[in-house]
Amino acid sequence: MVYLLCGLLGGAILAAICTPLFRKETSLESAIIEETQWDLLQRKKEIILGNIQDLEFEYKCGKLSQQDYQKIRAEMNTEAAQIFQEVETLESSADLDALIRREISARKSRSNAKQISCPSCGSKNPNTNKFCADCGAKLKA
Ligand SMILES: [Zn+2]
Repeated sequence: MVYLLCGLLGGAILAAICTPLFRKETSLESAIIEETQWDLLQRKKEIILGNIQDLEFEYKCGKLSQQDYQKIRAEMNTEAAQIFQEVETLESSADLDALIRREISARKSRSNAKQISCPSCGSKNPNTNKFCADCGAKLKA
């Protein structure tokens, strides 16, 4: 009976510890997905702007008739405007979220830059660590 109680108590404690961990992971995952959607729009924007540049270049080189150029250019303008609109909607509908996302990615790149590799096992450690978290080797001479 005592063992059973201990088991139950242990299980309850374990669940209490693990539940917030899992919850954290889910919200992190959704943040990553959101970031990807925003990034996807940014990439689309880059592509369409690049395409417009290419089109103008080809037109200037005489590879396209004015009629073709104007037709394709109008299509690209519509597409670009659509993407700009989508980016704006995404950013204004979740101003705070966008701000947090930008802050997080800035922080991520900052912390990545501050990582050092362990001379013994090669695993990455924060710059503030004196010893490797994996093998315990001294990180700084
Ligand atoms: Zn190591």
